[in-house]
Amino acid sequence: MAKINMKTPLVEIDGDEMTRVLWDVIKEKLLLPFVDLKTEYYDLGLKNRDDTDDEVTVKSAEAVKKLGVGVKCATITANTARQKEYNLKHLHPSPNATIRAILDGTVFRKPISVSRIKPSINTWKAPIVIGRHAYGDVYKAAEMEIEGPGKVELVYTRADGTEKRVTVADFKGSGIVQGMHNFDDSIRSFARACFLYAIDEKLPIWFATKDTISKIYDGRFKAIFGEVYETEFKEKCAAAGIEYFYTLIDDAVARVVKGEGGFLWACKNYDGDVQSDMIASAAGSLAMMTSVLVSPSGVFEYEAAHGTVQQHYYRWQKGEKTSTNPAALIFAWSGALAKRAELDNTPDLADFSRRLEKAVIDTIEAGIMTGDLARLSDPPPEKILNSWDFIDAIATRI
Ligand code: NAP
Ligand code: MG
Repeated sequence: MAKINMKTPLVEIDGDEMTRVLWDVIKEKLLLPFVDLKTEYYDLGLKNRDDTDDEVTVKSAEAVKKLGVGVKCATITANTARQKEYNLKHLHPSPNATIRAILDGTVFRKPISVSRIKPSINTWKAPIVIGRHAYGDVYKAAEMEIEGPGKVELVYTRADGTEKRVTVADFKGSGIVQGMHNFDDSIRSFARACFLYAIDEKLPIWFATKDTISKIYDGRFKAIFGEVYETEFKEKCAAAGIEYFYTLIDDAVARVVKGEGGFLWACKNYDGDVQSDMIASAAGSLAMMTSVLVSPSGVFEYEAAHGTVQQHYYRWQKGEKTSTNPAALIFAWSGALAKRAELDNTPDLADFSRRLEKAVIDTIEAGIMTGDLARLSDPPPEKILNSWDFIDAIATRI
């Protein structure tokens, strides 16, 4: 059989633990037999990030900027326990945070829907997509420990040398302090990315902050979002038949749980981090959540929303064939290939990407699935497979 050609390479970003193990199986069984796969490879395995002083992370993000489309495996964010485990020289920041800071942009997370897996919230009729602002706030904050009594101030030194100050707190004893920031340009491109996505997918768009408490910080988010809507997207939203809805974050959370789903929920960075795990779990499984980073310059990085599935990896190391769900990892590849196909105008590749996704969904719909889905499946599963046999079952369907 002739393999499907690719015009431009994808940036392939390898990662850690169980997802790294499955990464190779997916390539071997589901991609290489069908596609003449062209990738520019970056190894973001923890050891290599440490050996290269994290330069490989920066280079991988630069490559995504250059080639336009990347696909990323899950990676360990090192902490002191990991430093010991991997004998690391340094504790580098989260690779995802580094990549997001370079590409800016917005992360869209959407559950993979299968009719056998019913959401735990029974009023939900359609998936909720999260649009997470991927720059700044607590992820780019400066923090300080305060040892004892003293005053903490925020000082802004203007380009002309003049100053503006505000007191954060008068410390009577020890404590902590944190300084967050964001840029109007980044918030604006976050808003634009969300409106474009919502119009493209014909989804109503919700946005929420805590502007009643944070009048300047969250107030700015609300104002910019509203301004982008009024000046650039009001008519386009009307033409697409979708509405823009703003509310307070606590009100939004309450409405999400009582609602029918079927909208894009634009979230500030931290809200998106937390709420996407809630949406993923309530929609079924973290392993069924796809994720794509869309940058304002029009580059795309696809990944699974879940982590490296550490506990499964330790069991695999002991020789167990774990039943880790590869669905979101496969959708990261299919998403990246489909985007490549769209940009390069290669319909064969686009068709392959659709077949790959359909094969995953059809396999699960036929009752063949991994352990995480088995307890959620209604009707109950026909077969619960380990990852390797599950991937083989998908390959047969392609
Ligand atoms: P995790 O890898 O997402 O796993 C948490 C739990 O969720 C697992 O123990 C497993 O539950 C379940 N799960 C997640 N993905 C699954 C899958 N594909 N199939 C079946 N079950 C799945 O999160 P974590 O254990 O908190 O983090 C592990 C490492 O991942 C950390 O070092 C963290 O830094 C990193 N991380 C990376 C990313 C990323 O690169 N995007 C994101 C998050 C975390 P059971 O154990 O009950 O089976
Ligand atoms: Mg998270």
